[in-house]
Amino acid sequence: MFGRKWRKTVKMQKKRVMENELCDYRKEELSDLAESIIENYIGDDFIEPEIIANVNRVTFSYGNYRDAFDGLIQHKFGRFHIFINSNRSGIKTSPRARFTFGHELGHFYIDEHRNALRKGKVLSHPSFNLLLPKNIAEKEADYFSSCLLMPSKRFRKQCIKRPLSGKLIDSLSNHFQTSISATIFRYFELRLFPMFIVCCKDSKVKWYFRSEDFLFNYPPKYGAPVPNSSVAGEFFYNQREYSAEEIIYPDDWFSDFKMDKRQPLFEKCYYLKSTNSVISLLWVKE
Ligand SMILES: [Zn+2]
Repeated sequence: MFGRKWRKTVKMQKKRVMENELCDYRKEELSDLAESIIENYIGDDFIEPEIIANVNRVTFSYGNYRDAFDGLIQHKFGRFHIFINSNRSGIKTSPRARFTFGHELGHFYIDEHRNALRKGKVLSHPSFNLLLPKNIAEKEADYFSSCLLMPSKRFRKQCIKRPLSGKLIDSLSNHFQTSISATIFRYFELRLFPMFIVCCKDSKVKWYFRSEDFLFNYPPKYGAPVPNSSVAGEFFYNQREYSAEEIIYPDDWFSDFKMDKRQPLFEKCYYLKSTNSVISLLWVKE
């Protein structure tokens, strides 16, 4: 029933998915690049993307560009210029504007991106700072920005002897002046503690990420209803919100018949009411 043509199509689709994902090797390269920039230009000071732009003679401006983009880097007459859209990113010290600036610096620092801009292969990079499907160049610039604003060494140092909690995430986000979602993903990416991140929208599971060493598996599928007994479920079904992490049990979220159902877990919710979404963080209560 499934001939050669079908197998070829599947193979091509898989290849496309692979090509659009950042591999560990590439992530390491981008992280090393960001770390070396911090070492060279920032040292132990607070990370200010503007300083990095200045030393590279990259000019920048903030303006209201309606909904056209969050940020954009342009190459004209041998010079680079970064535009930050205040209408979408807020004031220049906001976590979103800082992340956008870091992202545009990524397009400047990543050789392939800079060369393409120089040669006019791409006219400019209008970037959007949203959790939307992105092409590989945008993913690389996002990853670079998170490494630049939250360098691995500094981030790990801030987490020493501090167990995962909502308070820790708030404190990290405050320390690095990054958004809660960017901070959560950086924490997850650095594999500091086994965790499960799930985003639910309109009472349905939208997507999730699970650490390889997180003990529990088989969460509801994408598109399935949010479990009733979860803390996220309380928001959608009972309009109840919780500011701190709550104790739940594995079968509130997972259906692995081999799991230890008595192991308490924490669930901490972040409410994004403008999109009727909730991001939950789950981890084992030690
Ligand atoms: Zn971009």
